[in-house]
Amino acid sequence: MARTTIRNVRPWGGDPVDLSCADGVIVAIDPASPGAGDALDGETVDGAGLIALPSFADVHVHLDSTRWGLPFRSHTAGPSLREHILADRAGWREDAPIAEKASAMLGRMISRGTTKVRSYAQIDSDAGLERLDGVLEAKERYARECDVTIMGFPQSGIISDPPTARILDQALTLGAIDVVGGIDPCAIDRDPKGHLDVVFGLAEKYQKPVDLHIHETGTLGAFSWDLVFERVRALGMHGRCTISHALALGSNDERTVRTLIEQLVELDVAIATVAPRGSVQIPFRELVAAGVRVGLGQDGMRDYWSPYGDGDMWNRLFQLCWSQNLKTDDELRHGAYAATLGGRQVIDPAAPRPDALAGTPGIEVGDEADLVLVAGETLSAAVVDHLPDRTVIRAGVPLG
Ligand SMILES: [Zn+2]
Repeated sequence: MARTTIRNVRPWGGDPVDLSCADGVIVAIDPASPGAGDALDGETVDGAGLIALPSFADVHVHLDSTRWGLPFRSHTAGPSLREHILADRAGWREDAPIAEKASAMLGRMISRGTTKVRSYAQIDSDAGLERLDGVLEAKERYARECDVTIMGFPQSGIISDPPTARILDQALTLGAIDVVGGIDPCAIDRDPKGHLDVVFGLAEKYQKPVDLHIHETGTLGAFSWDLVFERVRALGMHGRCTISHALALGSNDERTVRTLIEQLVELDVAIATVAPRGSVQIPFRELVAAGVRVGLGQDGMRDYWSPYGDGDMWNRLFQLCWSQNLKTDDELRHGAYAATLGGRQVIDPAAPRPDALAGTPGIEVGDEADLVLVAGETLSAAVVDHLPDRTVIRAGVPLG
């Protein structure tokens, strides 16, 4: 079996080691031996003392809306959520095919260290399966470098855009999507029961997980969450539900938030955050302390929603730590864990869930050899500096 040794790297910023990889997994970890040189079997890669982390997992990215690779387009959408949805709907066919733009962004993400992705593909009466096809093509193009799962996203609503339920069903019949999506059941469709019954009905019919974008805040958000929990409990979908954005956690009183977190734990519901700006912030520390699976994503990038985003999860990790005011070594490590292993656990609830603070989680013998090497004196220094240097290892082999 082909063996690659990545020499002189520091897992999670610890002591330097040589990592031997074969068949896509780490097969040996030895103290770094600068004198070993060519005596090692197989190919060797000089890790140059860089910090090794499990590769990044982006759990919330809209590959079907990006304009990455095209000339910068000035932002024109009006301020409301509805106006953003309409601006995207009016513009997404411009300039270049979805497959080209999605591939440009996916390639960029991989080159910056992401090898696990949950991407969204919008499904509605306007797009049909066209946007999904574009994301599928990008996924296919980078199948060797990255594992992409796709959520069918009814962003324009389901009840208010009736063909959507049928098109989602069609995408599931084709086996083209891995996750059933939903969005703000009260605010978009104004029919939370109708919306969630379709989402969970399809999830049950095709035995797929769900991912609900819930931007709703305050009591409205908590109400939507209750309806979600009710369905997860009734269908026994423990571990198979993600709530994205999750702004209800940052906009309710302490007792309500505690109750919501207790139910996340009981039902093993995951949280995906995009490290948003603004005053409504999820209680990251409390979620981590409670053992909730938390993943990080980059959301829409360079699209009709936002001119921001650069495909680099290392920068998004900085944004998470900055917006959450994470400062201690342990807190910053929890941030890095969310951007790497936490994301893997959101995408696949059966993924290992090692302790974030013990040993070198995700970089032990037997672990998958998808790694990213980054520069930094310590892990904390690396996160706050978030320097551009990068080496990406996929299945034990360096990319690029
Ligand atoms: Zn989103």
